[in-house]
Amino acid sequence: MNPLNPVEFRRQGHMVIDFLADYYENIEKYPVRSHVKPGYLFQSSPDCAPMYPEPIEAILKDVQKDIIPGITHWQSPNFFAYFASSANTASFLGEMLLNGFNVVGFNWASSPAATELEILVMEWLLKLLQLPQSFSTSSDHGGGVLLGTTCEAFVCTLLAAKEKTLDQIGRENTEKLAVYCSDQTHFSFQKSAKIIGIKPENVRQVVTNRTTNFELSPESLDEMIKRDLEDGLIPIYLCATVGTTSTTAVDPLGSLCEVASKYNMWVHVDAAYAGSACICPEFRHFLDGVEGASSFSFNAHKWLLPNLACCCLWVKDKSSFTKPLSTTSELIANKTTESGKVVDYKDWQISLARRFQALKLWMVLRSYGTIALREYIRKHVKMAKDFEGLVNMDSRFEIMAPRYFSMVCFRVSPYAISQHHDNDHEANEFNQMLLELVNATGRVYMTHSVVGGVYVIRFAVGATLTEDRHVKMAWELVQGQATSLLGTPTPNSASNVQSSKQIEGSIST
Ligand code: PLP
Repeated sequence: MNPLNPVEFRRQGHMVIDFLADYYENIEKYPVRSHVKPGYLFQSSPDCAPMYPEPIEAILKDVQKDIIPGITHWQSPNFFAYFASSANTASFLGEMLLNGFNVVGFNWASSPAATELEILVMEWLLKLLQLPQSFSTSSDHGGGVLLGTTCEAFVCTLLAAKEKTLDQIGRENTEKLAVYCSDQTHFSFQKSAKIIGIKPENVRQVVTNRTTNFELSPESLDEMIKRDLEDGLIPIYLCATVGTTSTTAVDPLGSLCEVASKYNMWVHVDAAYAGSACICPEFRHFLDGVEGASSFSFNAHKWLLPNLACCCLWVKDKSSFTKPLSTTSELIANKTTESGKVVDYKDWQISLARRFQALKLWMVLRSYGTIALREYIRKHVKMAKDFEGLVNMDSRFEIMAPRYFSMVCFRVSPYAISQHHDNDHEANEFNQMLLELVNATGRVYMTHSVVGGVYVIRFAVGATLTEDRHVKMAWELVQGQATSLLGTPTPNSASNVQSSKQIEGSIST
């Protein structure tokens, strides 16, 4: 056996590229959400690994036959669920290169290019996002790192905040530490706090509401902290979000940082989805106030084209951040580390080993360039705006939260379901049924959320291949299914058809 025979590598590699190119060409033929039943794969697969080698031809045949039916097609242009995970040529090729080199760049010496390219791309991104200089590696105290996910960014920054406080006030106070977020903060924050040993009841959630667009209120936060202090808790950390998962709400960073600074708390800004949009000057204002934060992260893999997983994190105080994560051993001791002149990224993350992620980000930034990346974001935002316009023109539907980026939250209104009363419970059941019917067609995939007790359908544009025609088809599908569920013709149908045509005209131009 020679697992790295260059001749076979070339032949099989070309076959896989051809396979994927065919997949992308034909992706619209597949039902977007997989329809398989749990355990489906075990029925068609042998129950132990083969004793002898199998040819790539046979393996790819089984990928087509057994794996593809079990795939929910995140790269389909009709994928409007969750937030997208964008695939593209540059990042794919970057992944090939980094897999090919397969270095384990835990410190500078283990692969200098991996560390230096990471610092370089994080500086490029810092400038694109106009983040404060205090986050820059070239500043005295700041720096950026590539992690896998936001959950890791939460864990590492929470740990830094916890350790910094305990160093000052003593470990016997661990049980009193409290961290703050809103009821719209991503649920992985709870898990991260649990991992670092914060008591579940000390993860304090400020309740939001629809009238204030589900934003975290600085006044409510301040009141909650004051009450908690009276109860003996010690506030250490606030997570603010730019672009919440349910509705893309944007928390007021400036005022929140002011409140947090009164209590000497660490503020982390989670812009997992919406951060990418902020490379466009017209969206940058959503990050105003980030200069008061201790750390900032966004998932470039959601919307800026690097493939999963690629979370970019910057911190202002690298010494507090790396102190609890630092490890050392004679096994990896080397002169450059001892010189103190280099970054050893093993001290910026949970694990020791790390991938050469910067390569794919570098490939994306170079292959497309800033102008095209901004246009890519704008195109998605425009498609979401068009969809919102279509929803607004059908009086049976209502928009449930302001649309800032490329996600629209909507539902069939309670009045369209029952003209006599405003019954959210009934509307929730109806919209749930509507979404299930829409997704069961296999032609699109959307997901939902529940905010303030209300079930909303989320229409999130973000797949690389999505075009105007897919958005229009998705809307017509939603409208058609709603009409058959309501059992009544589309109200104001004449004006709706006319307006829909106008939008269609504007979409196609
Ligand atoms: N924060 C926000 C705002 C998100 O939308 C998400 C996921 O969609 C996350 C955090 C969790 O990200 P990850 O899976 O990278 O931990």
